[in-house]
Amino acid sequence: MNAADQSSSAAAGRIRILDAATVDRIAAGEVIERPANVVKELVENALDAGARRIDIVLEEGGRRRILVEDDGGGMARDELALAIERHATSKLRNAEDLARIATLGFRGEALASIGSVSRMTLTSRAAGADAAWTVRLEGGRREGPAPAALAKGTRIEVRDLFYATPARLKFLKSERSETAQAVDVVKRLAMAHPAVAFTLGDGRRTLFHAPAFPGDEISARAERMAAVLGRAFLENAVGIDAARDGVRLSGYAGLPTYSRGNAQQQYLFVNGRPVKDRLLAGAVRGAYTDFLARDRHPVLALFLDIPPGDVDVNVHPAKAEVRFRDPGLVRGLIVAGLRHALAEAGHRAATSVSTAALGAVRPAAAPALPWGRAAPAGRSSPGLMEAAARYQAPPTDRPEGETMAPAARVEDAPEEEADAAAFPLGAARGQLHETYIVAQTADGIVIVDQHAAHERLVYERMKRALAASGVARQMLLLPEVVELDEAAAARLVARADEFAELGLVIEPFGAGAVVVREVPALLGQVDAAQLVRDLADELAEFDEGLALRERLAEVCATMACHGSVRAGRRLTVEEMNALLREMEASPHSGQCNHGRPTYVELKLSDIERLFGRH
Ligand code: ADP
Ligand code: MG
Repeated sequence: MNAADQSSSAAAGRIRILDAATVDRIAAGEVIERPANVVKELVENALDAGARRIDIVLEEGGRRRILVEDDGGGMARDELALAIERHATSKLRNAEDLARIATLGFRGEALASIGSVSRMTLTSRAAGADAAWTVRLEGGRREGPAPAALAKGTRIEVRDLFYATPARLKFLKSERSETAQAVDVVKRLAMAHPAVAFTLGDGRRTLFHAPAFPGDEISARAERMAAVLGRAFLENAVGIDAARDGVRLSGYAGLPTYSRGNAQQQYLFVNGRPVKDRLLAGAVRGAYTDFLARDRHPVLALFLDIPPGDVDVNVHPAKAEVRFRDPGLVRGLIVAGLRHALAEAGHRAATSVSTAALGAVRPAAAPALPWGRAAPAGRSSPGLMEAAARYQAPPTDRPEGETMAPAARVEDAPEEEADAAAFPLGAARGQLHETYIVAQTADGIVIVDQHAAHERLVYERMKRALAASGVARQMLLLPEVVELDEAAAARLVARADEFAELGLVIEPFGAGAVVVREVPALLGQVDAAQLVRDLADELAEFDEGLALRERLAEVCATMACHGSVRAGRRLTVEEMNALLREMEASPHSGQCNHGRPTYVELKLSDIERLFGRH
């Protein structure tokens, strides 16, 4: 049982108004700036009340209506009236309690704050009570309590957020962006509470849905991870369970090959509370340094369970930052726990799969294809290699619902292709799982990761085009408006000239958005919005002073990734052979670092050994 699970008992105490001395010691500040903040506070309250099911509705990104219903312990008539007062809480008694907070809430401010900037209705039925009660707050004025109908738990409806404060309304972003932020908040809380069922909708559609899983703690958490982050994450992650001096670290750490361009997919929890914490983020970075390029970030979900007295959550009113009594202990546990788990993963992969087969499968030769036109000495900057390697989609990126059965297309090769076997990468014989090309060479077989290979080729073409005459552009029929946050849009626009040189023409479109007019022609059909968003992510991490040309590798690789044949696309034999021939002609086409080749080769003699023919 972790600290968060104990919270229901703490919340069951009576609500009272905190004394002035305690109030003075609580991190002060307004936390309700947008719908996502309201959702967070209300869902946290439901979790603190021991809910097993939480249903959330957001209309117009939460601006028009937010509804949170739970089946938790509820509130009695008098409590209902008290709950909406400032500094009224059932979760703290006195200042000493602040030193060992075991609930998500403790400030006693959320309901009062929300009620002062919206039209709020609270309906609740205390466990065991024979009736439900409701109170209404509008611009801080209360009506009720009045009798109401509700079978169990609490139902809080927040309408017309900020209706009386147009200045704050103006700070809200598009409906889509506000919705996305609220969904993120719910997903994070849902990850930490796998025993609780969540639904989130916008009144018409379900945006997120995570049933409670009736299994043991470990499988429940795994199911929840899959519901939130997708099965692919689980398949590309290792489980962690480590403890030291009463602190427990558990969760899942993504394999280095499953990394991302920013740290947004790192989910860190302390006692069931989602946190954004420098110390934790730094420890994660430290643990992965040996496995990842500096500008790559692992995907992971780590849960730290620590005695409430050893961590201070009263640092900031949003309760997203924490301070540890013994930061060294926590850091050490994370670094050691992650390193150990990652090392184990490598070992497991090497023993559970047939060692013989793995030993025989040779990744492409390291520096360049021996027959390829080698890159001029000194020009093969390692940055370029890394850049191309990291955008390779993991093989589990198959579209949902696709079967595991080989989708091989072993067609009779046309005659002229019989000779293709004489080429270093051979003649394409088929495609497996719509991801791998299998080719026959004179003395073996070659398996190519089509996405990785194509991406590398697009990238090399782009570099060549740039060196020669600049990149050809292709006008979008419909210019695409991409919404970003203001800082990201400004960063992109500041570099518009440099992007234009690379074939991407963008212009400012109000604050917080850009319009894409042209894209590099050699990318073909490309999701311009996603491309621009990825580039914005990347720019956020670039050194201001550096010209894009100096970061060409990263920028080109990002673009190349968007222009590549995805894993999961069917190729004709001609397309496959064309890809193989182009790989042979391109420098670096077999290459990448972090042990991710674009192809592997298996010699006949190796295969014979596998079957004991030697
Ligand atoms: P805090 O959570 O910091 O105590 P809030 O203003 O969020 O402050 O809530 C005030 C009090 O109202 C809580 O301490 C709790 O007793 C009660 N409360 C709020 N939401 C719920 C709920 N969904 N179910 C039961 N009690 C609730
Ligand atoms: Mg609260």
